[in-house]
Amino acid sequence: MREFKLFIDGQYCDAASGETYNSIHPGNGEVIATIAKAGPDDVARACTAAQAAFDGGWGAMTSAERSTILARAAELLLERAEEFAQLEMADVGKPINEARNIDIPVAASYLQWYSEVTDAAAGQTIPVPDPGQVDFTLYEPYGVVGGIAPWNFPLFLGILKIGPALATGNCIVLKPASITAMTTSAVCELFAEAGLPAGALNVVIGPGSTVGEAIVTDPHVRMVSFTGSTAVGRRIIELSQHNITNVSMELGGKSPNIIFADADFDQAVAGAVFGVLLNNGQNCIAGTRVLVEKPIYDDVVAAVADKMASLKVGNPADESTQLGAIVSQQQFDTVTGYIEIGKSEGARLVCGGSVPGGPEFAGGFYVQPTLFADVTNEMRVAREEIFGPVLVAIPFEDEADAIRIANDTDYGLGSGVFTTNADRIQRMVRALKSGTVYVNCYNAVYPQSPFPGWRQSGNGVERGMAGLFTYVRIKNVIQDLSGQPIGWF
Ligand code: NAP
Ligand code: MG
Repeated sequence: MREFKLFIDGQYCDAASGETYNSIHPGNGEVIATIAKAGPDDVARACTAAQAAFDGGWGAMTSAERSTILARAAELLLERAEEFAQLEMADVGKPINEARNIDIPVAASYLQWYSEVTDAAAGQTIPVPDPGQVDFTLYEPYGVVGGIAPWNFPLFLGILKIGPALATGNCIVLKPASITAMTTSAVCELFAEAGLPAGALNVVIGPGSTVGEAIVTDPHVRMVSFTGSTAVGRRIIELSQHNITNVSMELGGKSPNIIFADADFDQAVAGAVFGVLLNNGQNCIAGTRVLVEKPIYDDVVAAVADKMASLKVGNPADESTQLGAIVSQQQFDTVTGYIEIGKSEGARLVCGGSVPGGPEFAGGFYVQPTLFADVTNEMRVAREEIFGPVLVAIPFEDEADAIRIANDTDYGLGSGVFTTNADRIQRMVRALKSGTVYVNCYNAVYPQSPFPGWRQSGNGVERGMAGLFTYVRIKNVIQDLSGQPIGWF
């Protein structure tokens, strides 16, 4: 059985307490590894090491040197992609083909992109009224930043914090979700091999309530980038009051995917299914509410149900599996609980709704892809984030009705629009209140593209140039050129 450890000050280590816990394979319930379980002492040591690295070796490196190290780490990840894909598959329960084709190569491509932007956080020269003075801005790293990541795309979302933090010259203390810590621990070795100085990257693993909170309140940590649920985000914002720590929140969603009668039917149906089922619906931007214009509503519901029912749910390790397991018993209980809530609210179950039977599913946390029709936007299954393979279909009358229903949510992470009407596209992308709008596609992600959350989906931006600037703070400089004494005394 494998062991995964903390990574502090350039070394893999046990927790100070010596405690460990087991990692479970969601596909069969078996214990696959032991994980070191950190506590506040380990966090304090990691943050101190990060500060020392910032004040020493890492802080003194040039942007070109940082670039070389990040690019090398990306190469090493691709060289060992299969090993990382296997770990991610077994830890999260996602199909091996998804881990191979998405999680690992996408993580490497982001790291590669961050290696290309280590000198991109440029300031401005600002014209000021006094011709004898010049004003310019510098963007400087915070020093030590904290990262807290969720379990749905563990390595990718970890790299989304490590990449921009290191690119901009910060040091980072990162906590993955306890239930999916294996790849985040394992990747540290690649950074060390790539030449990253000790202390620049530290990984502490353990419960959010102790380890996560210790990161947020550590006095060295000047900025925290958090990806996770809105409820935990709220708690971290509260904790940020202690040291007036900057926080960037990337939170949950309940994204609408809107299909107009003039859409390309097959494209829209594929978009609705892929929009919700990528990663078994455990995706922050999942298009979990499909809004369908009335004339095609019955046809879309039938076609989506057909497509969903045809997908192969199975052992994540099998090449042919399209939907693997739900990440944990707890998340399985949440998802199946929402299916019961949908039924009791009067939503019409069109497909799925139960747990697949048979020996290959023994011990695992499997749920059939599920479609509820005739849902109203007031139902809990239309308002609350389920984070599983559950889609709700809501009919609408016209464009105004679609916009009203789409925006009637506390969240604002993503929206999808399927239509062939160019004028309508322009109206819709402006009317929708979300940080991302997909038009005739869904779930595309690029390191160059900003990914902001609106409303209760967050207050920050990850990815893209705007996301890079999350990791630097602005400094303004006013310099006198006149040679005259200053002031009026
Ligand atoms: P979560 O329960 O909020 O946990 C996220 C992370 O926060 C975990 O590492 C967790 O640690 C830690 N944590 C828990 N309590 C904490 C506390 N009091 N202080 C500090 N840290 C704490 O979310 P999840 O269930 O892992 O992930 C699913 C959520 O993430 C969904 O809401 C999804 O929409 C969101 N998400 C958002 C984005 C985005 O970019 N907007 C991307 C992906 C996912 P432990 O679990 O180890 O205790
Ligand atoms: Mg696991």
